[in-house]
Amino acid sequence: MPDSARNTPIAPDRAAISATQLALRGMRNHCPRCDTKPLFRRYLKPVERCAGCGQDWTLHQADDFPAYIAIFISGHLLAPLLIAVGSRELLPMGVLALIAIVGALVLTIALLQPAKGAVIALQYHWKMHGFAAETAAGERPRD
Ligand SMILES: [Zn+2]
Repeated sequence: MPDSARNTPIAPDRAAISATQLALRGMRNHCPRCDTKPLFRRYLKPVERCAGCGQDWTLHQADDFPAYIAIFISGHLLAPLLIAVGSRELLPMGVLALIAIVGALVLTIALLQPAKGAVIALQYHWKMHGFAAETAAGERPRD
């Protein structure tokens, strides 16, 4: 993913770190700002404030986007497998349906938290939604 925000005027703590690095921190359940404390206190519930740097993580508006990302990736991983196995009639249709259902559930559940962490980190990096109010005077928030 290209880092298109590098040339924009952003706060020094965000400018020093690329969008990709921030997204990777969020995907690993690390605070995108300080990378020392967890971003989530429960499966999909971010901490209100980071215990390491004090960043307010209630300002995000990830909404349904992480679910769309998880479903998109799960579908693109499962579809080729199911098509390959199904077209060669290697397994009975019931077993194939079971693999599809269980595979979709497991992959989606496994991908939801990393996707949400990345979305929150990118919203923080690009000062979207509640993070826009944190901009220093004179900076124009980006949406
Ligand atoms: Zn932190």
